Amino acid sequence: MSASDSSGNAPLVVLASSRAVLTLPDDSLVMTPATICISPATGTILSIIPSLQPRSAFAPSVTYMDYSPRILIPGLVDAHVHLNEPGRTEWEGFQTGTKAAASGGVTTVIDMPLNAIPPTTTLDGFKVKLAASQGQCWVDVGFYGGVIPGNADQLLPLVEAGVRGFKGFLIDSGVDEFPAVSSTDISLAMTTLKDSPTTLMFHAEMIPPISDSVGDAVQQSLPPLAPRGDLASYSTFLESRPPAFETYAIEEIVSLADLAPKLHLHIVHLSALECIPILREARARGINITAETCFHYLALAADHIEDGDTRHKCCPPIRSLSNQDRLWAELSAPDSCIRTVVSDHSPCTPELKLLPLHLQSTTPPSPTSSDIDDRPFMRHSDSGVDVSMPQQEEKPAVATVSEIAGDFFAAWGGISSVGLGLPILHTAAADRAAHGEAVPDLLDIVRLCAQATAKQVGLAHRKGALRVGMDADVCVFDDEEAWTLNSGGMRWKNKVSPWEGHTFKGRVRETWVRGRKVFEFGGRNGGFVGGRPVGRAITEVRRE
Ligand SMILES: [Zn+2]
Repeated sequence: MSASDSSGNAPLVVLASSRAVLTLPDDSLVMTPATICISPATGTILSIIPSLQPRSAFAPSVTYMDYSPRILIPGLVDAHVHLNEPGRTEWEGFQTGTKAAASGGVTTVIDMPLNAIPPTTTLDGFKVKLAASQGQCWVDVGFYGGVIPGNADQLLPLVEAGVRGFKGFLIDSGVDEFPAVSSTDISLAMTTLKDSPTTLMFHAEMIPPISDSVGDAVQQSLPPLAPRGDLASYSTFLESRPPAFETYAIEEIVSLADLAPKLHLHIVHLSALECIPILREARARGINITAETCFHYLALAADHIEDGDTRHKCCPPIRSLSNQDRLWAELSAPDSCIRTVVSDHSPCTPELKLLPLHLQSTTPPSPTSSDIDDRPFMRHSDSGVDVSMPQQEEKPAVATVSEIAGDFFAAWGGISSVGLGLPILHTAAADRAAHGEAVPDLLDIVRLCAQATAKQVGLAHRKGALRVGMDADVCVFDDEEAWTLNSGGMRWKNKVSPWEGHTFKGRVRETWVRGRKVFEFGGRNGGFVGGRPVGRAITEVRRE
């Protein structure tokens, strides 16, 4: 084995283990011993030997690591992340969001087009976001564009600028600068994009024609049904976003699909089991439509959410345990309509979560913790702060936290979890398997969170697989270590998450992006051992 790559001078990096998840030529996945040779010069995988080669097989100049029995898997591709910069950088940012990703073996994130200001709904807006990302990304970052009323002329320029797909809302998005689309807007987007190699995605919730409350206004972007009951009760919130919102929206999208028979349609963050037969039937008729679900729908359940615990608020909502069972069954089913699992990491400031005092974090990081991040722990008990939001003008102009703490309707909807997906899924699958259920194994998790997510965003030629020629994006996973998430272990900007206090089985030990180690658990600099971000903005134009 030569000690150098074909460029002649950069020493090889060799990562080996008794267990690695490799991608075979037919795209199937296999767990096998492997020795992976990487060119630091190109950042790609030069060769893979399907056995565990010893250090002595390589020249002394080679950087060699044997991680046995830890598992080498391809870096995860999280295809649904809100980084919120610029414009709402106090919610999240490229720096903190991509550090959190790196700490969990995620080597590529795809940023959603909304919640940053400007949103990525115009070519100019995209340029502003790209400029903001420069020099800040610890992993590679791709970008979606947005579909809003009146921006159809921007869609093809955004395709040519390298966005990975588009997202539109069929219901109020929560931010004024990203309005919902009508059926007319969807039709126009479909016909505009029908011959482009892209993905048209929808937040599929839509208010159906329920005669006693919304009547003729059903096609407009209205707030959800008026809540009936205690606003701090999770059941009141859950009942306000019923499965019918999701099924009605998906039926609307499917009804328009003939306008663009080749275009890949995709439902983001599917939550309700009732959507599955509709999508299966549409796929059986040849409609190119898929769905993703999220880590929180698979491992958190309404049955266990305490009243007032607004950390769990997201839309569509986290539903019942029985609903969750059906999502897991679909993940394991042949020709599943749920092709990917993503985080939908969507943070905000603690103030906007309106968390009651008794549910606020009690585990500030110790000053000596290697987990410590560059933002101080926030104890968000500042009652008296003005938390009125633009959408709440019917409420008193100034409400105090103590007055509306725990109000699921006033709190921002979104869950922070980028970088936690692998431990979440691995732990939940192990728990379900212990009860005798058929669950996805680690190969399936790699397929759902790396291989298929890369394909969803047109990056399958370089991301989401350990295979010769691919980017050397590698996650070193200890599938045995048990650990508990506290606020000090959260690398995203605002240390608020429903996953706080959860114990996981499985920990990411190292993360490599294009042949460079970016994260090492317990390492210097909070684990970000490279000392500076090496991630890149992905703007290559989609070809598939
Ligand atoms: Zn989202």
